[in-house]
Amino acid sequence: MNRQRTAAVRAETGTASDRATGLEAARGAFAPSMNRFGAFTLIELLVVIAIIAILAAMLLPALARAKEAGHRIACANDLRQIGLAAGMYADDNNSFYPERTTGGTTGSRWPDRLLPIYREMRLLRCPNDAPQPPQTGVSGTNGYAGDSVPRSYIINGWNDYLQQQIDVELGREVSNAELMNMILGRAMRQDAVDQPSETVLFGEKDSPSPHYYMDFLEGAVGNEISELDQGKHSNPIKNSRGGGSNCQFADGSMRFVRFGKAFLPENLWATTPKWRSTVLKF
Ligand SMILES: [Zn+2]
Repeated sequence: MNRQRTAAVRAETGTASDRATGLEAARGAFAPSMNRFGAFTLIELLVVIAIIAILAAMLLPALARAKEAGHRIACANDLRQIGLAAGMYADDNNSFYPERTTGGTTGSRWPDRLLPIYREMRLLRCPNDAPQPPQTGVSGTNGYAGDSVPRSYIINGWNDYLQQQIDVELGREVSNAELMNMILGRAMRQDAVDQPSETVLFGEKDSPSPHYYMDFLEGAVGNEISELDQGKHSNPIKNSRGGGSNCQFADGSMRFVRFGKAFLPENLWATTPKWRSTVLKF
């Protein structure tokens, strides 16, 4: 140790060659201590990286689940506002929900009709419909602000109830093909929903779907069930049919409904006894 210190001193004070020799020796004196305390060996580095990787693997799924839970709650709050707006609309209109239209000269559809009550168009969008905005219909929307913005939700088309009503009025059974034209301009009555706490008023639609109304009797029976996203809020890790979606019920309540449970054991989108008990494919 003394020899090294002397060499360092000689490097400070001696001739050029003394300095060179002294610096070499001094470097030799400090290098081992740098290796020992100032730097990691490769093994140590790998161990640290492995520990970080294990911690990240443990934490990331928990973070993803927490984020998804936040989205589900935000979505439920937004949809509840829209459901309450529909209820208030019915209260002000002799119990009628907004009538069915195709936009344009037939009048605006439900998102625009209810807009003065729920007010914020951003409520129409579920946080899980990101980063791509969800689709909405493009026909007859001009001039109707609420109808033309990205929308995650779809209203019950009340197909079975209106079909039964039209059957009685006409004294015959109308076909599904006729039904879609015949229900234009008609509205569902809030007080005609027999089981409001078990009947879906609004559900979550498939993001690319432009549909406003869920019609399970348009053409083939049950065809528009495919417009729904029954697993919109799934476990982000598994991302399977194990998730569910938010459903706003006609009594104003909000429930998270597991995939398929809106149709089994009972069709919660139907109001007539016949169709509530009919098992539909989804
Ligand atoms: Zn949602």
